[in-house]
Amino acid sequence: RRWGFGVFGEMRSAAARDPGRVAIHDEHRTVTYGELDLRVRRLANALRAGHGVRPGDRVGLLCENSAAMIESLMAVVALGAQAVLVNTGLGNAQIEAVAHDQSLSLLLHDDTFLGMLAAVPPNLPRLSTERIDGLIVRSPSADLDPPAEPGSIVVLTSGTTGAPKGARRRNPAGLAPLASVVSRIPLNAGERMFVAAPLFHTWGLAALQLCLALRGTIVLTRRFAPASTLAAVNAHGCTSLFAVPVMLQRMLEAPGAVAAPTLKVVAVSGSALTGPLATRFMDAYGDVLYNLYGSTEASWASIAVPKELRSAPGTAGRPPHGTRVAILSDRGAKLPPNEVGRIFVGNDMLFEGYTNGTGREYHGDLIATGDVGHLSADGLLFVDGREDDMVISGGENVYPAAVEDVIAELPQVREVAVAGVLDEEFGQRLAAWIALHPGERVDADAVREYVRHRLARFSVPRDVYFVTALPRNATGKVVRRQLFPS
Ligand code: ATP
Repeated sequence: RRWGFGVFGEMRSAAARDPGRVAIHDEHRTVTYGELDLRVRRLANALRAGHGVRPGDRVGLLCENSAAMIESLMAVVALGAQAVLVNTGLGNAQIEAVAHDQSLSLLLHDDTFLGMLAAVPPNLPRLSTERIDGLIVRSPSADLDPPAEPGSIVVLTSGTTGAPKGARRRNPAGLAPLASVVSRIPLNAGERMFVAAPLFHTWGLAALQLCLALRGTIVLTRRFAPASTLAAVNAHGCTSLFAVPVMLQRMLEAPGAVAAPTLKVVAVSGSALTGPLATRFMDAYGDVLYNLYGSTEASWASIAVPKELRSAPGTAGRPPHGTRVAILSDRGAKLPPNEVGRIFVGNDMLFEGYTNGTGREYHGDLIATGDVGHLSADGLLFVDGREDDMVISGGENVYPAAVEDVIAELPQVREVAVAGVLDEEFGQRLAAWIALHPGERVDADAVREYVRHRLARFSVPRDVYFVTALPRNATGKVVRRQLFPS
């Protein structure tokens, strides 16, 4: 038996080669690879001896980004169990549903989330991450043999289109994820990566896996806040930042915006990056921005590099090494450039399946992403939105993302969401929810006028609502169903 690849195996081989190298800096601790290896093995034995964790068990983790979360995740996987990463933005009832659907046998949680456990059945054993240090100190042993079957990680989808689904990811296929990303993003061995995206989400987890494969140092704060994140980036000389697009907006708005001269790469994923935001961010922080399009199921499908974002600001770029993207019609035929169709992706990092046994649509070995988009004549991918978000107004198909991109060009607009509302005459009509920058004004007619000059008539929102902020989930995605008053 061997540890192989994956979070625990990667960490162990880094520890064997370079035990004194710093693996993690969080707000409280600095942990070297050698210490991390020892702590994780001791924690794994403590979880087995004191909390009965066995191979195949499902252990939930409800944690903010911290060294304790990474240690817990690795210890569970090292035991051959499954670590189920729970989105900290879920409501009490959703957490209860996840605990039930995923058949959790133990829930590890930060004390911050005690209030969210009200609906979780009392017979589900819980363990506070505050107790991890004590468990490690009193652990029976640091000796650990590889399990017969490797452990795995269950990532929950964001639940944008319904209840979050558990997507099982076994340790990724060797160095494929790293080889694929570095074919488009200049990451180096020993990279110092600030991971602002939540580790419970597929994007934050991917960043952790990349960091381990690069024998790098991961820098974390529990929550993203522009000032403290930038302070930590500068204090640790971080060379890359892994974030979600809404964080870029907040970095630009932070009072007395801070420079981050060591940053060579700012990589975002998880939701659409609008063209105007990409341009404003690069004007302020330099040409360091990379936009990754992907999903929990498909891993990353395409990556836009700064040059592409300068020439085509809203683009999702091109598939990295080892990945294919196809735009197919509803009947499965390949569509020519500039025609909008369903986005399919193929690579060797696709997920293994949902934990509840349901499937996803495939076309050969390509997986349906659930998004629609098009390729430009020179092969750049544009994501036009989710299939489910498409609005049919008077028989015309409208993709809200295209309308959002146009409205976002207005300098007064801070953020915007577009969706369809029921309409007796047209079936659906377009509505826009707009939050303006502080102190700015623009009226609904001016917004309609701006869109009318740039898009087809049926893309002009009939309803325009001004709001203070858009409802977003923990990964910064707009939760469209919360836009509508209940
Ligand atoms: P659920 O499947 O539960 O509804 P979800 O699909 O939102 O949740 P994720 O896997 O977190 O769960 O999100 C993937 C989706 O996020 C993609 O299918 C796409 O719609 C969107 N997305 C991610 N990155 C980008 C990007 N760079 N540009 C545009 N859209 C993106």
